[in-house]
Amino acid sequence: MATNKNGPSLTTNRLALFPDSTRIRKDSLTIAGRTLASLADEFGTPLYIYDRATMDASVDSYKAGLGAHYTASSEITYAGKAFLCKAIAEWTCQHKLWVDCTGEVEIGIAMAGGVPRDRILVHGVNKSNADLISALRHAGTIVVDNMTELERISSLFSDPRFNDPLQPMRRLFPNIWLRLQPGLAVETHHAHTQTGQSGSKFGMTPSEIIEAAEICKSSNMPMTGLHFHQGSNFRDTSPLVSAIELGIDLVKENGFNEPWHFCPGGGWGTSYHEDELPQPDIEEYVRVITEKVNEKCKSTGLSLPYLHLEPGRSLVARAGVAIYRVGTVKRRGDRTWVLTDGGLADNLRYAMYGTKYTCLTATHLSREMNERISIAGPYCESGDVIIEDLPMPKVEEGELIAIPVSGAYHLSMSSNYNGARRPSVVWLEEGSARLIVRRETPEDLYQRDLSII
Ligand code: PLP
Repeated sequence: MATNKNGPSLTTNRLALFPDSTRIRKDSLTIAGRTLASLADEFGTPLYIYDRATMDASVDSYKAGLGAHYTASSEITYAGKAFLCKAIAEWTCQHKLWVDCTGEVEIGIAMAGGVPRDRILVHGVNKSNADLISALRHAGTIVVDNMTELERISSLFSDPRFNDPLQPMRRLFPNIWLRLQPGLAVETHHAHTQTGQSGSKFGMTPSEIIEAAEICKSSNMPMTGLHFHQGSNFRDTSPLVSAIELGIDLVKENGFNEPWHFCPGGGWGTSYHEDELPQPDIEEYVRVITEKVNEKCKSTGLSLPYLHLEPGRSLVARAGVAIYRVGTVKRRGDRTWVLTDGGLADNLRYAMYGTKYTCLTATHLSREMNERISIAGPYCESGDVIIEDLPMPKVEEGELIAIPVSGAYHLSMSSNYNGARRPSVVWLEEGSARLIVRRETPEDLYQRDLSII
């Protein structure tokens, strides 16, 4: 195996970023018993694969943390924005997760996957009428982002289409949670992934929360919870602990209905590169949250809330691997460009946040890592780069590159730039590989266009 002059094998370190079922067999990468080369042959590239075992294990870590440290009821809500398709929605049902949906289309995908109404929770910073109507028809909970939205919901509350007082079982108005902007940022790798700071576009200030709670109470709306989300991909829990204190103080002041729901969001981090190992510990994150909630409820005399955690990335990022085929290698002086068939259109994260990725080749893993390479896609943007200056073996044209930690915020942010067709997605369970999203065809793209002639 390739060794690093200064210590353990780089390959071994990088393997820790791959799904749990990843092995090296005959010098090639396998996941859930399948070689990446055979998957690329069967499904084509660029290709995204999801390892079910890794996703199950991350849910188990959340459940273990809650089971060990929290005595009242709790739920895990999968943040669908990380990546949602019908099969993932079905997987959430198997674990009895709630699903956080942004807007009517994600609500529709959750429903298609069989997610029951009471486990559909709707977010959105500027929900359209269609989003709101869909949420009222199909969701169990709406997280209200702002006062304007609350006014719109309040007028729909008296609309018999959504809230028929004579037939309460026919139309149950969703529970209303208020989204707090705690004014406290978590430390993330980029400002674009912070959401809880003062001046952010998300949520309501503490004084707006007080006003919103009054409106809900005076109109008898089912305001049952408080929510905040401070940002995505953080490891330091101190701002989270302060925000939990602030949130529980607000609930105390405003006399929320009991039993009350409390959600301190998601955002727990994931390592993307060997320099960021070890992986942040999910159980430890859950322990910090639950200890603070327990302590604060005791000191304020509040009953323990129904506690909700809302992770996306830490449930699915490491389960996903992107497989690209190398088309061209340009070796010029000390710069080697490895040009692949995937890039910015399926993974915006380097261009948007400068996320530092790493990779392995799918085969010939025992080669020395004696070259430094940059990996870029086929798109007409100099920012279409995935990796810069990474120690790798001498990669050949036609080889496959596997990029770990590709399961969150890749496909959900993907585009058709330069006519890119969004890739196939394959679901891996030990021994089986099933297509769960087919690759877009040219016809999928052409059929939206209308003529002016
Ligand atoms: N909840 C809300 C409201 C979010 O906006 C996000 C992500 O931005 C999440 C949960 C999930 O964050 P992560 O995927 O980092 O866990």
